[in-house]
Amino acid sequence: MLQNRTDEFMTSRVIPVSSFDLVIFGATGDLARRKILPGLFHRFTVGQMPEGGRIIGSARSELSVDEYRQTIRDALSEFAPEAANKPQQVREFLDRLDYISVDAAGETGWDTLAAALRPDVVRAFYLSVGPSLFGPISRQLRNHGIAAKDSRVVVEKPFGHDLQTARALNAELRECFEEHQIYRIDHYLGKETVQNLMALRFANALFEPLWNSQHIDHVQITVAENLGVAGRGEYYDESGAMRDMVQNHLMQLLCLTAMEPPSRFEPGSVRDEKLKVIRALDPVSSSDLVRGQYRAGGDQGSYVDQAGNPDSSTESFVAMKVHVSNWRWAGTPFYLRTGKRLRERLSEIAIIFRDPPHSIFPKMQSRRGNALIIRLQPDEGITLRMTIKDPGPGGMRLTEVPLDMTFAEALGEGAKSPDAYERLIMDVIRGDQTLFMRGDEVEAAWEWADPIITGWEEQRQKPSRYDAGSSGPEDALMLMHRDGRRWREIGD
Ligand code: NAP
Repeated sequence: MLQNRTDEFMTSRVIPVSSFDLVIFGATGDLARRKILPGLFHRFTVGQMPEGGRIIGSARSELSVDEYRQTIRDALSEFAPEAANKPQQVREFLDRLDYISVDAAGETGWDTLAAALRPDVVRAFYLSVGPSLFGPISRQLRNHGIAAKDSRVVVEKPFGHDLQTARALNAELRECFEEHQIYRIDHYLGKETVQNLMALRFANALFEPLWNSQHIDHVQITVAENLGVAGRGEYYDESGAMRDMVQNHLMQLLCLTAMEPPSRFEPGSVRDEKLKVIRALDPVSSSDLVRGQYRAGGDQGSYVDQAGNPDSSTESFVAMKVHVSNWRWAGTPFYLRTGKRLRERLSEIAIIFRDPPHSIFPKMQSRRGNALIIRLQPDEGITLRMTIKDPGPGGMRLTEVPLDMTFAEALGEGAKSPDAYERLIMDVIRGDQTLFMRGDEVEAAWEWADPIITGWEEQRQKPSRYDAGSSGPEDALMLMHRDGRRWREIGD
């Protein structure tokens, strides 16, 4: 263990890189066109892609380099609006692109790829393909001598369907790569506000003394989407909200909120602390769990229509009460909820503080109390809800005001948050694993999530229905009401 940590620290120092070869497998796919290449283009335009940085797209399709460049030119027009005003930079960026056709599951193309890569530059392999190809691609990279000792491999979600499959994926990757070479993406960790949560907690003396059950009544973590599953119903129906969102994204947000201060901001320390949180989670009892599925609404069909499965009992909504069983959090529940076709698209972490121990003012009870809201989307920012005196005559009346810091307003142009993907890809190139999930973290998260999912499956539990455009099923409101609390409004 000590050995691993030392290795990890040694190899994950942030090193300025002047040259790299980034190979994207699945380079013609949706993720590559919508996120990865537009993210890299933005980095290029702000001068943060070194001269020697080269991108090699790869997929089975037989395309010439020019045809691939045209594909990406079209993708930039669609997904990188800034490209329209920067024709020269688009041309220069496209000049950095190469394309090599490789069948990841077969033998063709590997020798050409091996010959195209430069010696002595950082090599990164982004596996933007289904997880069934992680093992075959890794083995081909090793067998053809393409992956060097300091090469990096990036893998996308979903990382497993349950603990067993996550372990199998880890084993396949570790056959060919060391842990310090493996970058498991959770793009939530690349969001600027999520990193700001760490800055807020550990770079200010203000909050950390209050960051415990003595002062915090409860925490609410919400990831609400207004869209349904149309277009990806088949994939989603096999997964559901628990696997697609809770086990990974919400879990990561919970970890960063609940973790102890790491000794340093470096991968080993941060990831050790996150792992301790997951291991401290109590099993969730069925009475603290709510599953939901949306009905038809507006001009859109119900979940089962969009998933194309009339008998589906997959959940499009989950809410739960979670306890972190340790000294800091005993007595402070964490309420998590996520769902599709809800009122608005909103992701936030809300820290709800306890009331002062004694009130010297009348009618203090009618307040909602102090809260710190960390908004991930839309409009990344932080709000602190304070109680103050209502200005003017009429005695000591209290009112609540937000101390609001929307990053775009507070920091001006400089606040334009880089997209999570571009930040994370450049971390890979620099060799910084801090914002990526370690193998043991992912497995621990599945270990916690699996019994919840199998419990639902064994009981053949049907999800509660909820109206499209609402805040979710009634049972989710009850989960809070029965504790004398209430959810923050989605879109409040
Ligand atoms: P996609 O649109 O279906 O694209 C798949 C890509 O893989 C294509 O470029 C395809 O090109 C290539 N491919 C498939 N089989 C191959 C093979 N045997 N050898 C070489 N290339 C092969 O998928 P995607 O939406 O981009 O998603 C890619 C991965 O990212 C998936 O694991 C997905 O779960 C994950 N992900 C996607 C998103 C998203 O927003 N799209 C978000 C998070 C995670 P050819 O057919 O030409 O080979």
